[in-house]
Amino acid sequence: MKKILVTGGAGFIGSHLCEQLLELGNYVICLDNFYTGREKNIRPLTKNRYFRIIEHDVTNKIHLDCDEIYNLACPASPVHYQNDPIRTIKTAVFGAVNVLELAKKTGAKVLHASTSEVYGDPQIHPQHENYRGNVNILGPRSCYDEGKRCAETFVINYHRQEKIKVKIVRIFNTYGPKMRADDGRVISNFIVQALKGEELTVYGDGMQTRSFQYVDDLVRGLILMMNSDDSFTGPVNLGNPEEFRIIDLANKILKITGSRSKIVFKPLPEDDPRQRRPDISLAKVVLEWEPEINLDEGLRKTVNYFKKEIVY
Ligand code: NAD
Ligand code: UDP
Repeated sequence: MKKILVTGGAGFIGSHLCEQLLELGNYVICLDNFYTGREKNIRPLTKNRYFRIIEHDVTNKIHLDCDEIYNLACPASPVHYQNDPIRTIKTAVFGAVNVLELAKKTGAKVLHASTSEVYGDPQIHPQHENYRGNVNILGPRSCYDEGKRCAETFVINYHRQEKIKVKIVRIFNTYGPKMRADDGRVISNFIVQALKGEELTVYGDGMQTRSFQYVDDLVRGLILMMNSDDSFTGPVNLGNPEEFRIIDLANKILKITGSRSKIVFKPLPEDDPRQRRPDISLAKVVLEWEPEINLDEGLRKTVNYFKKEIVY
């Protein structure tokens, strides 16, 4: 039985990952400081005797034994990561260093959750792993983007210098059940607004694009990546290449929920990327992975979750 540490395990993606790793017969340690994560996400798992929760901040050293580490700890929604930018950079960078130091001590393999944000506001479309990105170093998103870029640099240098086994995954916009109603990202915002009969807040003209991945597809990809050959460090993009304009997403959510909410246009946040779509040819070849759940199906599952989740 493998002992697997999931940092950020009480968060949206982390809690799905913990659940799947337990189902696969592993011993799972969820380490989280509950900054954006919730005890509620992992409550059903606490019945499993192979599941353990440790309340801890990854910016402090970690002392435990394990075989594999999925490093997910970091706020991911722009609203939350911009709330305390210094804390975000520290979590992204110092958190990665503490995870890598733990791996150095224990010999554990590390999968680091990076992001499509390392490509910034991309000038190459779709984004391939070789693209070096277009990030505004000083902009409001840089605490997250540059934190994640620096973390990748730490990860690859611990691999080169300390011979740590590492994997870097660049995750594109992911959604699904267990997101918080106040998460602040676009899909949760629109669904909650539609269900409550409130106006859907489209930022800018809604012509900017994103490619949305259902969480189950991502979790499958993360586990395949962890189990891939040690020589494959990545980075590898994991995302759904189907690209949508935000205005079209709003209309789709109105249709699926049957809501009569109106759409209102609000100012576009500074440095909001204009377009984003992953090139997943590397994941297809090396991991034999591609998404299986399209946006309509994923949205229906997510709407059903939010119908039970939100207080009207
Ligand atoms: P989330 O905010 O739901 O989860 C993050 C988790 O990390 C939370 O449980 C939070 O409490 C925990 N955390 C934050 N700071 C911490 C700290 N200092 N110490 C310990 N725990 C801490 O976000 P998510 O969407 O589940 O994202 C998980 C990971 O995936 C993040 O690293 C994020 O950057 C990455 N990612 C997510 C997406 C996406 O679309 N969801 C896209 C790209 C990358
Ligand atoms: N967005 C929007 N309305 C919202 C929340 C977000 O129009 O209520 C837009 C946002 O400006 C961006 C896109 O949706 O262009 C995706 O935003 P999100 O915060 O989900 O993720 P990210 O910008 O990090 O990709």
